[in-house]
Amino acid sequence: MGLVVTVERDVCAGYGNCVVLASAIFELDPDDNVAGVVEGAPVDEHEDAIREAELDCPARAIVVSRKQ
Ligand code: SF4
Repeated sequence: MGLVVTVERDVCAGYGNCVVLASAIFELDPDDNVAGVVEGAPVDEHEDAIREAELDCPARAIVVSRKQ
């Protein structure tokens, strides 16, 4: 029942909202200003913030699903 969180790199526009809302989960790559999910991020513990970031992403680049 774990959460699966990904950022579509080709869609992300680097606004950084996700990093502001969930800094433990998302980070911006300093090389290309594209967001990604922090390796080993405790996604299940931050579901509310992740859902908020998903809704707030202007590019709709954050994809959240659940492991079956
Ligand atoms: S809020 Fe969306 S567009 Fe902005 S950095 Fe995060 S994933 Fe990228």
